[in-house]
Amino acid sequence: MPVLVVGSIALDTVKTPVEEHADLLGGSASYASVGASFFSAVNLVGVVGDDFPKAHIEFFSQREIDLTGLQKAQGRTFRWSGEYLWDLNTRETRSVELNVFEHFTPTLPADYRQTQVVLLANIAPKLQGHVLDQMERPRFVIADTMDLWINIAREDLEALLPRVDMLILNDSEARQLTQETSLIKAGARIRAMGPRYVAIKKGEHGCLLFGDGRFFSCPAYPLEDIHDPTGAGDTFAGGLAGYLVSQGGEVGFEQLRKAVVMGSVLASFNVEAFSLERLRTLSAADIQARYEMFRLMSQFEVVE
Ligand code: AMP
Repeated sequence: MPVLVVGSIALDTVKTPVEEHADLLGGSASYASVGASFFSAVNLVGVVGDDFPKAHIEFFSQREIDLTGLQKAQGRTFRWSGEYLWDLNTRETRSVELNVFEHFTPTLPADYRQTQVVLLANIAPKLQGHVLDQMERPRFVIADTMDLWINIAREDLEALLPRVDMLILNDSEARQLTQETSLIKAGARIRAMGPRYVAIKKGEHGCLLFGDGRFFSCPAYPLEDIHDPTGAGDTFAGGLAGYLVSQGGEVGFEQLRKAVVMGSVLASFNVEAFSLERLRTLSAADIQARYEMFRLMSQFEVVE
């Protein structure tokens, strides 16, 4: 069973305090679909321009990502540029060029419409809603978002939320969306806006999962060397969605708890190199080994 991923496909320019690289493969859907592909088949919906390198298309194909839903439009591919400050947590967007993204309408090929698990990676909430309009009763819908949409498209986002089963966002976005300082209160408030489950990411401090009257605090894998945090959130969401699909059956809090751990493991690899470079060489054995290490490191010694 595949997971349907829709989002941006980009050529990114990324600057950290030590390195800068231009025209890298990026975009929310690129990270999310490659992340998901470690666990399940993927149907990708997005748009690229006529300058998009063939090698990237081949990379998606090699990962068995179905590209029937990939539109090729005349013009330049969406471009984003960002700079990280010394802590590698604070990021400033330097420029955004919408290019072919400006007139993008996600259109689902007929055989994508029955996909059971949908990941609406970060794009305008109106477009995320448009994807759902074309679906035939998906079983589990996950949405990601960003500060930009909370600022300029709050109404569209609020209209989307009752239509999704799970919202993934980071701590500052959760505070911005709810006006709550406490992330616990923010999680509850977002659930009241529609999604049954909410995951709030806290960067290098892990992730909080809310739903069904339950709560899970997932630590982050402690990494010594972070080279490029871009796409960590998208890889997390993709890994989570792909893992859920691979497990089959019902999706509830228990399944999501495991999926959040797998998403975290996958995201921890992604930040070890620029763009999707680390994911290119990643193996199932690497994922399993890090998962085992993560599990051991996260265990408590409980004093009776
Ligand atoms: P993240 O680091 O998880 O926030 O995701 C970074 C990716 O999001 C980059 O590869 C960008 O190309 C992409 N991105 C940046 N701005 C937008 C936007 N407005 N809509 C969709 N994708 C975006």
